[in-house]
Amino acid sequence: MRLGIDFGGTNIKFGIFSEDGETVSFESRRLTNFTGPGNLLKNITDYAAAFAGDKPVVSGGFCVKGLIIPETGIMESDVGAGELFKGINMKEVFSDSLNIPFSVDNDARAYTWGEWKFGAGRGSRNMVCVTLGTGIGTSRIVDGKLFFGDNILEGLLGGHISIDRNGPECLCGNRGCLEYYCSATGLAAQIAKDHPELRGQGDILPLFFREIESGITKYKKILNIFLDNLTIGLVNLIHAYQPELIVLGGGLFKSGHLLVPELKKRIDRRSWTFPPGRVEIRTAQMIDQAAAKGIAFYPGTGSSDEK
Ligand SMILES: [Zn+2]
Repeated sequence: MRLGIDFGGTNIKFGIFSEDGETVSFESRRLTNFTGPGNLLKNITDYAAAFAGDKPVVSGGFCVKGLIIPETGIMESDVGAGELFKGINMKEVFSDSLNIPFSVDNDARAYTWGEWKFGAGRGSRNMVCVTLGTGIGTSRIVDGKLFFGDNILEGLLGGHISIDRNGPECLCGNRGCLEYYCSATGLAAQIAKDHPELRGQGDILPLFFREIESGITKYKKILNIFLDNLTIGLVNLIHAYQPELIVLGGGLFKSGHLLVPELKKRIDRRSWTFPPGRVEIRTAQMIDQAAAKGIAFYPGTGSSDEK
């Protein structure tokens, strides 16, 4: 069995998976459960050990929003989870605490691997995966292998494609980045601004999509602008990489049935592919579990040999 840990901004997800990728147990816990008292990392590793219990877990993986070097295991840069773990060798911390080999990487790459190996990407050779959450993460499969490249940032920054030269300045240094407009956070902020009547009733995105589904037309304008913006970003990725498949994930795509058919139409109109319309657009299948499962079965760990 394998253990996968997906450290997000709000929740930490723990999964135990059988060797053929079936979920044995899975749990999403609020980060605040681990922030005190005591040391955050020790609280997490203690919990992971208890979660694994006496199951025959042979290897594990830890993925995180932020820059972590898979080879060394060290958390670099101080953005995202780097605020908490910068300079720490996360691979060592987990493998020492749990006494099993551990893989580490960025969560977008782990998510891509999980969806390719067990989810919507199965059978494809060249795939781009885009996750729309707090930000936008991207990564890709090239010729049936997870693409790493020579630099840790390789393939991860699709959310920082600029779609508006006059847009707001981004942390990356550019302006008008795709994630400002199309991340779940960005879309939720736009809805809250234009439709204050939807505020204060819990998570605004599911509510927004329920209203759309029930035929309330006043929300269509925001949806249209969102689809147009996302189309520009995805067409740029298609023109750069010519994948056969784009998998779209993140909580937002729990409403994928409302988005994908329309996105596909717009993408086919605006992208140059051969033959025309060849790029498939699919919703991720394991929305919550993809990254944990992907990092649990990371290429190069345990008996997995795809690399
Ligand atoms: Zn940016």
